Amino acid sequence: MLKEIDLTHKVLERDDEWEQGKLSVSFVLPILDSIINTPGNSLTLVRFPKQWRYRSPAVLSFLLDYNRHLESRQVRCSKCTVGLWGSYIGTKGWINGVNRHHGDDLYNNHCMQNHTCIKCTKFFCYECDNGVDGKLMLQTCIDCKEEYCYNCAPMTECVQCSENVCNDCRVRCPYSSSGCEYTVCAFCSGDSFMVCDTCGDKGCGEWCTGPGFFVCDGDDCNKVQCEGCRDEPGGVKWCDSCNASSCADCRYSKLSKDWGNACSECIELIAGELGQKILKDKQIYTNLKNMKCCVWI
Ligand SMILES: [Zn+2]
Ligand SMILES: [Zn+2]
Ligand SMILES: [Zn+2]
Ligand SMILES: [Zn+2]
Ligand SMILES: [Zn+2]
Ligand SMILES: [Zn+2]
Ligand SMILES: [Zn+2]
Ligand SMILES: [Zn+2]
Repeated sequence: MLKEIDLTHKVLERDDEWEQGKLSVSFVLPILDSIINTPGNSLTLVRFPKQWRYRSPAVLSFLLDYNRHLESRQVRCSKCTVGLWGSYIGTKGWINGVNRHHGDDLYNNHCMQNHTCIKCTKFFCYECDNGVDGKLMLQTCIDCKEEYCYNCAPMTECVQCSENVCNDCRVRCPYSSSGCEYTVCAFCSGDSFMVCDTCGDKGCGEWCTGPGFFVCDGDDCNKVQCEGCRDEPGGVKWCDSCNASSCADCRYSKLSKDWGNACSECIELIAGELGQKILKDKQIYTNLKNMKCCVWI
């Protein structure tokens, strides 16, 4: 018995398009239609192409039929057995977006089937908890909008936005293999990780088992260095006395504005580097002089 159909990435958005390996809308719809109109059919989950957003009246008309089909099955929550039809389902409908008046995020989760774990195809209400940590039995991934029950795929909470994210969508710290548990959703991953300007090492730098990262607090500088690279000349160093985290250039320009009130530990941090630079210059000077290759005046 046909229980579920996965059409994601397999059907075109419109019939006037063509893409290798994809089925046309006008080919798929009559087949789906005949399935849901066969008495005694056991179809309980259709994963629709996410781009099917009211592109054609035929698509919408089928979505409404399929919505009615699920409604008429009168299924119950696998846990608390509440009936998932009628007023319980309400204006939201079984398929997101079938009810245009419902204030759902149509662009993002249109065509997603509600109340259904896409792995085990069991139905759940949105009130039952998982009996383990108080979270809902059926959870929606913030990125792909797919629903999974707790038994099939416990979700991870994004460290930044606290939304649930599924195992396929979550972005983990590059140091996860050595135990770092920093995990974010795809949206938050954009500005969640530090990249060392010197060696290119990437990490979360927060709860990390990998290196710590240091960011220069100078205006518009944003220089980032891992702890292995910050001892290089010019690196971002932390001053224990005034708590400034600065690269050498920014520290120097800040101190030079007011030498009289300059933090003495910061001066020491700079002085060391200036001293090294002078020594290096002196070495070059001496080498050149010894080589007698230049004419000195
Ligand atoms: Zn329930
Ligand atoms: Zn499941
Ligand atoms: Zn996901
Ligand atoms: Zn997030
Ligand atoms: Zn580095
Ligand atoms: Zn980490
Ligand atoms: Zn800087
Ligand atoms: Zn200082």
